[in-house]
Formats: sequence, structure tokens, C-alpha cells
Amino acid sequence: MQPLPDSLDLLVVAAHPDDAEISIGGTILATLSAGHRVGIVDLTRGELSSRGTPELRAQETAAATEILGVHFRTCLDLPDGAVRDTDEAREKLVAVVRHTRPRILLAPWRDDLHPDHAGAGLLAYRSLYLGGVKMYPGGTPAAIQHRPATLGYYMCHTPFDPSVIVDVTDHWSRKCEAVQCYASQFHQPGQDGPPTKISRPEFMLAVEGRARDLGSRVGVEFGEALRWQDPPAVSNPVDVITGKGLSSNESKEA
Ligand SMILES: [Zn+2]
Repeated sequence: MQPLPDSLDLLVVAAHPDDAEISIGGTILATLSAGHRVGIVDLTRGELSSRGTPELRAQETAAATEILGVHFRTCLDLPDGAVRDTDEAREKLVAVVRHTRPRILLAPWRDDLHPDHAGAGLLAYRSLYLGGVKMYPGGTPAAIQHRPATLGYYMCHTPFDPSVIVDVTDHWSRKCEAVQCYASQFHQPGQDGPPTKISRPEFMLAVEGRARDLGSRVGVEFGEALRWQDPPAVSNPVDVITGKGLSSNESKEA
């Protein structure tokens, strides 16, 4: 797999097809609206879900992807319910990292309640390192080795103490539109399947409540949390707050 002609700024690793939209959709939209290139790698097709068929879920993912407007999305077809940090999974994820060459990787928090989310977080952490190891296979010629500058974790079920809170206020309604594409997973009066954690009628209220709570901590309406695996290098502390960004520390050699 040869690299994309234009590398990504941000690659979001998600265990299940709706995780990126529900957990970090506002951050994806905020990053896109700042002119950066964003992609998503779904590790599974969510085939264990007790609601909706795989075909319907694929249509829902396509519709949500269209609303987000990301530059790249793929699925690794790892087994739903068994997302773990294995050699096979590492090679598949490293291949995508080398294909897209993101500056930043985002993945679910490694201590999340759901074993697939926790597994995805650990897998991303290990794969981030291996992508920069010259002789590691990862499905590409060794010359295309790539290691993102940093890894950030996003919040799924289990809360954590954030490193940063992203102001997603301007993108909240569009994030909700993307989430609602996964209609089979949500409560629908009169045509409901077996109950799940996210099919409860109050699920979206809980998502909104968390975003409002995080937002209130930084004086905005809606926020999404990130926690860095390692602190990113910055040129000076003032420019981080005034929005001039991070210093470039990518392309570290193995
Ligand atoms: Zn999930």
C-alpha cells in the first residue's frame, strides 16, 4: 500500500463504526474546519452489535462519513468483541499509519470500560512506535516508515483527567447529525431491538451532558476531552493558549 499523495494531520482510531462520531466527532469537525486533513480507521465493522445488520451499519457509516467530510476512512476488519494488541492487528494498523502518515493519532482511552476500546487504545500506542521502526513489516516498504508526533486518547465510557479540552461548540449540531446516522443503534419508538447501552432513550442526553460539563470547565458551551500519552512539544506556553499550535517534533527515528 503506497502512501496517500497528501498525508493526514489527524488519524482517529475507532474500535466500532460509531465510536468516532459519538466520542470525538466535534473534534474531527473542528480540526477539519481549521483546514487540516483528517481520517478515521475503524478497527471492526461492529458485527457483534445486537441491533441492525452489517449491511445497514455500513450504509449508516457511509452517511455519517459524508456528513463529517473526512479525507479518508477505512476498516481493518478485526473481530468485533476481540480487539486486542496482537501482532496481526499491529501490522494492519501500522500499514494504515504508513499509508496516511498522520501527524497526530487519536485513540480510545486505554482504561475504558469496554474491552475493545481499551484494546484499541493499547494497540494504537504500540503501533505508533512500530510505525517508525525501519524493519518492521507493516505491509509497506521499510522506506515508508512513519511515526506520528504524538498520541492522544479520547473519552468513550470511562472518564479521565483531560490534558486539553477541545471547544466543539460551533460543530455540535453537525456532530449530532453524524451520530444520528447510526439510527439502528439508537432508541426508535415502535421498532426497537434488544436494549444496549446506547439504545437507551437518554443516551444522547448523557453525551450532551458530558460535553456541556467539559465545556463549562473551559468557559465554552460544548467540549471534548483529550489526554496525551506523552506531552507534545510546544515552542512556548503562550502560543498554545493563543492558538498558534504545537512545535514540530514528528519524524523521530527508531
Ligand atoms: Zn465502541
